[in-house]
Amino acid sequence: MNIAHLLERHARLSPERTVLFHGPDPHATAQAWAQRSARVAARLRQQGLAPGDRVVLFMRNHPRYLELMFGIWWAGLVAVPVNAKLHPKELEWIVDNAQAGWLFHTRDVLPDATTLGVPAMDAEGDACSAWLDEPIDTTPVAERASTDTAWLFYTSGTTGRPKGVMITHRNLMTMGLTYFNDVDPIAPGDTIAYAAPMSHGAGIYAIPHLMAGARHVVPVSGGFDAAELYALGRAVGPLSLFAAPTIVKRMVDHAEAEGLSVADCAAAYKTIVYGGAPMYAADIRRALAVMGPRFVQIYGQGETPMTATALSRAALADSAHPRWAERIASVGVAQTPVRIRVADSTGQPLPPGEVGEVLVQGDSVMAGYWRNPEASAATLREGWLWTGDMGTLDDDGFLTLKDRSKDLIISGGSNIYPREVEEVLLHAPGVAEVAVVGAPDAEWGEVVVAFVVPQPGAALQAGALDAFCLDHIARFKRPKRYEIVDALPKNHYGKVLKTALRERLTS
Ligand code: AMP
Repeated sequence: MNIAHLLERHARLSPERTVLFHGPDPHATAQAWAQRSARVAARLRQQGLAPGDRVVLFMRNHPRYLELMFGIWWAGLVAVPVNAKLHPKELEWIVDNAQAGWLFHTRDVLPDATTLGVPAMDAEGDACSAWLDEPIDTTPVAERASTDTAWLFYTSGTTGRPKGVMITHRNLMTMGLTYFNDVDPIAPGDTIAYAAPMSHGAGIYAIPHLMAGARHVVPVSGGFDAAELYALGRAVGPLSLFAAPTIVKRMVDHAEAEGLSVADCAAAYKTIVYGGAPMYAADIRRALAVMGPRFVQIYGQGETPMTATALSRAALADSAHPRWAERIASVGVAQTPVRIRVADSTGQPLPPGEVGEVLVQGDSVMAGYWRNPEASAATLREGWLWTGDMGTLDDDGFLTLKDRSKDLIISGGSNIYPREVEEVLLHAPGVAEVAVVGAPDAEWGEVVVAFVVPQPGAALQAGALDAFCLDHIARFKRPKRYEIVDALPKNHYGKVLKTALRERLTS
């Protein structure tokens, strides 16, 4: 089944209801949304794109994101959502790797798409408006097998180059249906807001909300602004939304600074789903105290989007439970369609309390990495996804994450693979060696720190290194700090001891 059938069904059930909003302003009814997506599908097919071809979305959050994404699916094509914060060179690499046949962008994140070597369209321009609004013969939703790829999500890897995660129509359907049982029930009058990037999990949370016939609101800023979101919640909410822990913290700061009561917060926000990075126990305690019991945590990754474990609203709010303190520091229990195992290096399950790698099995798990059989074979073994996260299970099945086996840095909810930053810095003039680690940070969770060894006689300046990074990778990945050192600590095999570097930062 094609995931776009959900939009067709929704438009049939409640054609006249306004379901898409840009800020507080109506943007489209269910019927108009479906009609626009069907037109986009027809236009893309007219351009010669055939089912299975890839179409890149490089846009800030906008209601058109949903119209275009469902248009891509309607035509049987594969949506490739690219993080709008990536550097044009990183985008170019993805466009090339995906062998994309089309690209939609907004001009604020990509003013000029002509050098990318792929036909491109400004999603806010007149040509795109004509595609959406001018009549054209449309066709029914394209036939797709549940095992066909719908969403090709690029995730950075330890290899330094992103890998395309093939997420199928079934994966998305599973994720959507699971939301109701493990995250939150949704009623037709409910409203989801997109304050986190729609290129990530926040964007596919459109699916359960479409299933339930709920409303979709994209803030005019296209991102997160605490005051804007609160006002929007009061105007068209209460809102449900996905937020990284950094954003949750800012929402709590805002509520406190404005003297909002729990009742005020309840009027603006129905449910705040957090995840994507560790939430400190002290922060969630404060969030619950200030904003009330409206939080649910999820743990997932690109390879099993939004769907590994969940820590329910009830478990988070149950402060009388004898193990509440441990539970709020955990990521909860396996979501309904998956099994979770904590395993040793051979894949054998470990007893409760022992730390091992977290494995996931179930219908939300990716089909594999795009044209990368080696990486697929290393990550999907005997029916289990090896997440690279280390954790422990308790006797009740609550999973607590301990560390990440892949050295991943998560800053403000964005993943940064040290290797990627190291590879850039190694090309900077005067750099002999470099090691990148995350340092704990109260605001961002972690920040990127680079330890750099200069070549003999070279005098390195943090400003020049920063400018070099700005020229090659996304802003959010570049180090916030540079430590110029004579040598890096190494073990007998010459492997850099990142633990020692991290200790240096915390001591
Ligand atoms: P991504 O593939 O971008 O979704 O990043 C996935 C990674 O983020 C996971 O493998 C975890 O390391 C981390 N992560 C996701 N959710 C949580 C969570 N609730 N708590 C802690 N870390 C998380």
